[in-house]
Amino acid sequence: MLATADALARLLDAARGVEGRESVDTLDAGNRVLATDVSSPLDVPPMHTSSMDGYAVRAADLAGASEGAPVALPVSQRIPAGHAAAPLAAGTAARIFTGATVPPGADTVVMQEMAQVADDGRVSFAQAPTAGEWITRQGADIQRDSVILPAGTRLTPQALGLAASVGCARLEVVRRVRVAIFFTGDELRMPGEPLEPGAIYNSNRFTLRALLEKLGCAVSDLGIVPDRLDATRETLRRAAREHDLILTCGGVSVGEEDHVKPAVEAEGRISMWQIAMKPGKPLAFGAVRRGADTAESSETGEAFFIGLPGNPVSSFCTFLLFVRPFLLRLSGVKNVAPRVFSMRADFSQKKGDRRNEFLRARVNESGGLDLFANQSSAVLTSTVWGDGLIDNPPNHAISEGEIVRFIPFSELMR
Ligand code: AMP
Ligand code: MG
Repeated sequence: MLATADALARLLDAARGVEGRESVDTLDAGNRVLATDVSSPLDVPPMHTSSMDGYAVRAADLAGASEGAPVALPVSQRIPAGHAAAPLAAGTAARIFTGATVPPGADTVVMQEMAQVADDGRVSFAQAPTAGEWITRQGADIQRDSVILPAGTRLTPQALGLAASVGCARLEVVRRVRVAIFFTGDELRMPGEPLEPGAIYNSNRFTLRALLEKLGCAVSDLGIVPDRLDATRETLRRAAREHDLILTCGGVSVGEEDHVKPAVEAEGRISMWQIAMKPGKPLAFGAVRRGADTAESSETGEAFFIGLPGNPVSSFCTFLLFVRPFLLRLSGVKNVAPRVFSMRADFSQKKGDRRNEFLRARVNESGGLDLFANQSSAVLTSTVWGDGLIDNPPNHAISEGEIVRFIPFSELMR
């Protein structure tokens, strides 16, 4: 059996970033991956700005101010945000507002609570300010020509805001990774159809499609394919066309009704991996030749193939742990590892499993982890109840209070 980390390393080793990029409106670039570095054409803020409502002054003019001997200055200009500022005349103060340009010559802003407007219109200060106070310096956030978002960054809402803050109206992104998915199993029915004896609903279609879409993939859903070799081969040929990855679910065990292996073997190549993990274990990785579906097809090369197990929790976990990083790599993301947190187990598990377990667990209010009682790979309830997976090494019993490795679903779906 293959260790989880080794299986992942093999997958990532094989993943090559897709070619092709496009320019998209920054407003539409959420979740996409940057194809080029974004650097700032300007300083942010673009000028020295006030971070308070108050008065812009020269600190030296107020050097001697105290409660007993306040210093009064005439107000020489008024500067609201968004308006230009004239140089500050010596021995005067400028009325200024938050976000407004600090006038040349001023080196300090005194907040209005520390200033007193006198009857003659002058403003008096009973304290000597610290030079530089309440001024956000030009370029304090971002310096001109610096890289603010490197190529390979997945664009979060915050990243879009940052790009917009330096004036980027469009962004160069990697084209979407194209994934064809299908489901094997004569027992599968779609919600809305009647369930005759022996049939079950195709829940994995919903989970996996939503996961793929969340990752920003362009998904072709080829639906349910009967447990027959010819049908599986034909669907594979169709799926190879114009797709980067073919993802299947079910039929990767080695039973008589499992046709995925011989079908991929006939249309390309496949390695059957037995991964020392629970849930999961069988995972198939390979490739399907392109251009075999029609005589006139001119496509060449091959599409990657990953075959997931059919058990709902197994396919969910193997997707998160293997398919997600693989797809992110295809779309040019450099850092594909989820963050893992050290957390306290508020339960005990007497016996360790031979395999690397990924236990569905939930964060409780005291900051520890509770375990879902039924860890069967068919029990989808555990994935909805849980907040993430405990990565428990092989042959390791967990005692209450022990610190374990926890991977939140939020990290695995980013
Ligand atoms: P298989 O990997 O095809 O041997 O399937 C393992 C188990 O998962 C069987 O109990 C299947 O009925 C179930 N299963 C397979 N595909 C799906 C699916 N798309 N949705 C829900 N359960 C499935
Ligand atoms: Mg099956």
